[in-house]
Amino acid sequence: MAFETVIGLEVHAQLSTRSKIFCACSTAFGAAPNGNTCPVCTGMPGVLPVLNRKVVEYTIRTALATSCTVQRRSVFARKNYFYPDLPKAYQISQYELPIALGGHVDIEVDGETKRIGITRIHMEEDAGKLVHEGEFAGAQASLADLNRCSVPLMEIVSEPDMRTPEEGGAYLRRLHDILVYLGVCDGNMEEGSFRCDANVSVRPVGQEAFGTKAELKNMNSFRNVEKALEYEIRRQVELIEDGGKVVQETRLWDANAGVTVSMRRKEEAHDYRYFPDPDLLPLIVDDSWVEELRATIPEMPAEKIARLGTQYGISRYDAGLLASTRALADFFEASAAIYGGNPKTTANECVHWKDAVLAGTLSPETIAHAVEDRERGTISATASKKLVELVLSTGKPFRTLRDEQGLTQVSDTSALDVLVEKILAASPKEVEGYRAGKVGLLSFFVGQVMKESRGKANPKVVQEVLKKKLG
Ligand SMILES: [Zn+2]
Repeated sequence: MAFETVIGLEVHAQLSTRSKIFCACSTAFGAAPNGNTCPVCTGMPGVLPVLNRKVVEYTIRTALATSCTVQRRSVFARKNYFYPDLPKAYQISQYELPIALGGHVDIEVDGETKRIGITRIHMEEDAGKLVHEGEFAGAQASLADLNRCSVPLMEIVSEPDMRTPEEGGAYLRRLHDILVYLGVCDGNMEEGSFRCDANVSVRPVGQEAFGTKAELKNMNSFRNVEKALEYEIRRQVELIEDGGKVVQETRLWDANAGVTVSMRRKEEAHDYRYFPDPDLLPLIVDDSWVEELRATIPEMPAEKIARLGTQYGISRYDAGLLASTRALADFFEASAAIYGGNPKTTANECVHWKDAVLAGTLSPETIAHAVEDRERGTISATASKKLVELVLSTGKPFRTLRDEQGLTQVSDTSALDVLVEKILAASPKEVEGYRAGKVGLLSFFVGQVMKESRGKANPKVVQEVLKKKLG
């Protein structure tokens, strides 16, 4: 029997605000345990949450960039459960009335574009974490670090539109790029700023009803998500083929073992008992604010790739490499504006020096001058590379170094004539051989002239002069 996979993804993105969602505590990573806490985020009785405007702004920007409809009125709800890392015993989230509904993100897999629906986007607070002394099961003590309590999260829930692990990976990468482009999330997966849960089920091809799904948690890299999905799909298909049944459960991805393991069954799952938070008024977003924010949305990766391709005539692949980081694409455009030679050469240079570009140690002038001098034949490719390295190590301008180092190429034919004559006079046997038909000897002559000029001769011009003289 052939099976089809159905995948939906829930992304939790930490918004890069300086303070938490309902209090003024810092969100900085790596603070001393419980260093970033106050009575509000530690859930002391009688305190009141105050909504951080920046959190709403960032979420609206994300909603607009993913074509969602921003809801004029949304409501914060209490999601009740008892957890030792959440002293209030409820998490403030949005439930029935989230801030944004019904958007989409376009992905590309194997050269085909596919639209993945976004069901909803809502805001919520994160929970703290427990640190166990020693092995989890035999721990003598467990310590609570509440620094993450009330750190602002945005949950982006997709429609079950993905059919393969590659599509899942492509969707996550695209979403990640969008959030980083918007500057609303730093995208750091190691620090948990961008995390993902997946709902996976399989069904016989042709069947309309969804199969029973499993929820996968604990995936912290794009590659892990793809591997976890591959494993889980195989597990479910084998289970059904062996006459078994998939049960609805939450499973954890064990990256070391490369397997998913059952964490909890549906019958043990928590009944959250959501209800509107009485401490927070319904959130009313007026249209003028939404329009104000719409004006601040930068060009998104997919649009940028398409525009770079048409505007500069570079390949989709090159445009994709440049657009992988907004700063790199901006740098490319700045370089191309200074010297509008072959954009492909400029693109290659920008990608080649990407680390320096992103570290801010190269200026667009350097790349523009390097490309211009090479195209005009003033310097060789080798000299260009050497000079950029010197710019990085000395901080001096490209052309100052070029003149100081005497790396300017000799393209003047009359100067090269003398050199060529000298080499030909010194190699009568080779000249005879060439004239007798051994045309491969041309590179020998070029090499000799280059050596004689200590690398400063323009090899193209040298070839022309040689051909003319050798007849
Ligand atoms: Zn606080």
